[in-house]
Amino acid sequence: MERPELKPCEVVIVGSGFAGSLLARILAVQGYDVVLLERGTHPRFAIGESSTPLANLSLERLGIRYGMADCYNLATHGRWLAHFPEIRRGLKRGFTYYRHHPDQPFANRGLDSERLLVAASPQASLSDTHWLRADVDHHFVRQAIAAGVDYRDRVALTSADIAPDSVRVSGTRNGVPFELRANFLIDASGPSGFLARQLSIPSGLEKTETRSALVFSHFEGVRLMKDVVPGMPQGPYPDDWAAVHHIIDEGWMYSLRFDDGVTSAGFLLTPSGISSLRSSGIGDAATKSAATSDAATLWRAMVQRYPTLASAFAEATPLMPISFLPAIQHRLTRAVGERWALMPHAYAFVDPLFSTGIAWALRAVERLARAFESAPKNRRVPDPEVLNRYDAALAAEADQIDLIVAGAYESMAHFELFAAQAMLYFAAVSFAEVGQRLLPQDSVAWNGFLGVGDLVLGPLPRESLGRLRQITQRRGEAASPDERRAFVEWITRAIALRNIAGLADAGRRNLYPVDFDALIEQHALLGMTRAEILEALPALRGMGAEPPLTGESSRQRGPRFPHAELLGRDRL
Ligand SMILES: Cc1cc2nc3c(=O)[nH]c(=O)nc-3n(C[C@H](O)[C@H](O)[C@H](O)COP(=O)(O)OP(=O)(O)OC[C@H]3O[C@@H](n4cnc5c(N)ncnc54)[C@H](O)[C@@H]3O)c2cc1C
Repeated sequence: MERPELKPCEVVIVGSGFAGSLLARILAVQGYDVVLLERGTHPRFAIGESSTPLANLSLERLGIRYGMADCYNLATHGRWLAHFPEIRRGLKRGFTYYRHHPDQPFANRGLDSERLLVAASPQASLSDTHWLRADVDHHFVRQAIAAGVDYRDRVALTSADIAPDSVRVSGTRNGVPFELRANFLIDASGPSGFLARQLSIPSGLEKTETRSALVFSHFEGVRLMKDVVPGMPQGPYPDDWAAVHHIIDEGWMYSLRFDDGVTSAGFLLTPSGISSLRSSGIGDAATKSAATSDAATLWRAMVQRYPTLASAFAEATPLMPISFLPAIQHRLTRAVGERWALMPHAYAFVDPLFSTGIAWALRAVERLARAFESAPKNRRVPDPEVLNRYDAALAAEADQIDLIVAGAYESMAHFELFAAQAMLYFAAVSFAEVGQRLLPQDSVAWNGFLGVGDLVLGPLPRESLGRLRQITQRRGEAASPDERRAFVEWITRAIALRNIAGLADAGRRNLYPVDFDALIEQHALLGMTRAEILEALPALRGMGAEPPLTGESSRQRGPRFPHAELLGRDRL
């Protein structure tokens, strides 16, 4: 059958998760002619729901730079509720961790409990959110269409041909074949890896240390930890309104609550965790086959093994079939070519521990948006040098995420080690966040993620993993009290030059609020005087001036974009 040609475009983006849709829309705002292709339809379920302060900073910057008021308003729980109450979300005040042991209820030993809470926001209205991705992604695709993106869903792409001066993709839509020519292709197809298959990009998975399987669903009727374990000492925020992590012998479980009571939950199981489950007869069938009923059996067995989780999930019902994925990691060896680029989730994925995905994807949206903004006028595609910079950044950052997460898995052998290893992550993100809020720079999109490129933080994850592997013997051994103490002391010293948040402080008893006093005390680490920090504090406390987002004043702040006036429309 003859393939009808779609009207050629400048940029074709494959995949309309939030990353593909946002980038498509920004490029349309910049005046590019963009086609966005999606194999499914919206709204649809998607995983990856817990946002973070760095993700929200990216959203705010994108909102301000490109006049997208909705992005700015979706960057805090308070503004989200005020402007988009119909888009479902959950309040996320911070990161909550508990250590559970098989066949024992979680031990509430007051301030000596195996419990760690790290606040990510000083108050609920400024807090992060869990994104109900069906709603959020649907919103962003509608906004992309409103900005002039040519969106086509239900496409089945069969090939991509990359020539030195153009790209051609072909496939079918509703069974009808088509071909589309473009100047540039962006793969935002996530782990299904459209371009990886088309271009046979070699896998770099052997570089990734982390390995985990996933069993997951959305549930209703999950009880709050505060009700299941009453009487825990008060933390810096209510334990349950957070990304809740339950660390277990076989890995860990995430539990993310949405404001309407739905909970997204999943167990991440390590290879050694799975083999010990198999040898104890649990989950044998489920881990060998991906059949839905077996996944549900595995889920029940895991929950029953940990009595406090059994209580929390006693009345819970899954809202969709419980699913099992035997391996969730992927990694490629290249993220760009002269006529193409991959979004991070198409390039690499490590693990949901520390919720790095959304922030990393949004940082990449910022980078590629800038790359197109500075494209030579006669070529209208990003400069190869900028693309190579993007490629190098993604490679280094994928390694860094992996090293921090692999260290965290190693440290699960003992909660004291885990709480110390987590400080590496929190030191890196809090230093970056405060720096970005107080000392905004135009080049921030290119700042390394999780301490990449930072002389102090950059090398720490690798060193930490090495130290942990030494003391745990790579067999999950809890190490001696002296070895654990030495590790905690090493982490405390190692992050000291970036510790603006009062982290790794034994006096805190693992309950960390947002600590403005610590920040003021550590002003010199940011290169600021005490007076300068005090003057800047209102911006951190959410009392700074709201930036202009639409109209002449917003356009004066950034470049003039031909479609910026479209973006005053928040809602469709
Ligand atoms: C278990 C798990 C938990 C996670 N939890 C978190 C978390 O708590 N916080 C966090 O920040 N990140 C998390 N992540 C990461 C997060 O999911 C990703 O960072 C995020 O989804 C990236 O968004 P995206 O738009 O790039 O890609 P995706 O969300 O993967 O979207 C890809 C889109 O492309 C479409 N598509 C795929 N193939 C094709 C094709 N051939 N043609 C056309 N369209 C196609 C898909 O239908 C989909 O709409 C998690 C990931 C996993 C696996």
